[in-house]
Amino acid sequence: MRDQLSPDDAGLHMVTPLIAASERLHLKMECFQPTGSFKIRGIGHMCEHAVAEGCDRLVSSSGGNAGIAVAYAGIRLGVAVTVLVPESTPEATRARLRDQGAEVMVRGAVWDETDLTARELAEQAGCAYVPPFDHPAIWEGHATLVDELRQQGPKPDAVVVSVGGGGLLCGVVQGLHQNGWDHVPVVAVETRGAESLYESIRAGEVVTLPAIQSVAKSLGALRVADQALECTRRHDIRSVVVDDQQALEACVAFADQHRVLVEPACGAALAGLNVEEAGLAAARTVVVVVCGGIGVSLDDIIRWRGAGIL
Ligand SMILES: *Cc1c(COP(=O)(O)O)cnc(C)c1O
Repeated sequence: MRDQLSPDDAGLHMVTPLIAASERLHLKMECFQPTGSFKIRGIGHMCEHAVAEGCDRLVSSSGGNAGIAVAYAGIRLGVAVTVLVPESTPEATRARLRDQGAEVMVRGAVWDETDLTARELAEQAGCAYVPPFDHPAIWEGHATLVDELRQQGPKPDAVVVSVGGGGLLCGVVQGLHQNGWDHVPVVAVETRGAESLYESIRAGEVVTLPAIQSVAKSLGALRVADQALECTRRHDIRSVVVDDQQALEACVAFADQHRVLVEPACGAALAGLNVEEAGLAAARTVVVVVCGGIGVSLDDIIRWRGAGIL
């Protein structure tokens, strides 16, 4: 059993490129992770711990990028993976999880029910529940992103991330602190209709949104981790909200410029670059975390165009 991964332990994620899109703008290409998003950093780290402690089945309740990351971790670590999804989950999503070696169980009409069942199932001996964002091991894994930035480029004047439940934000803040970059501001971008961090900052406490109304499904956490709000109290974090259309336009512009498809959740961060409240006008070097995501296709983009969102 080991408490911490040794520094030379590479983990399940890949070192991703930092691409200079311009002299000023640097792209941390998390879309090139084997699971299509940054999530493998934190989730892979947490799964490694669980397996080191004797777990032989990982349990997730995410049909999205978190579930895919758990499935991938299971293959790499040689343990079984069960992903529970609600009845509403499309067959294509279930098939993608099965292709990644996961056993898919359909439980519950709404996700809250599904998640409760997953947590119960994981209480069996040898099982571990892996949450999508709210766990210190996940933040610790996400923090490796900043360790890489430190090796790859100059100290940025700001780092831009998108925020769902706030796991990426917590990890990036932790990474900045552990690399002596305590004063580097973070721009935290959400879409309107999924702005759970923005509303929590305004209220001075973590609030639960009544519903998610945004095309950026991976940002659809009704409630951020307590730690995410805590981070805003001890770090310079600028909370920014963009609308769906801005996020989608940023996805299309990014595809045209870099020939890579990313989810609207990632388009949000890219759109945040141009928002005045981000306060980036004077920044000489900006890093944007291109968080990626598998929930996007050419057909989706055509559909958004047809629906008049784009
Ligand atoms: C999960 C996810 C996010 C949000 O991350 P949190 O840790 O929940 O804040 C953003 N973009 C993509 C592509 C994701 O998969």
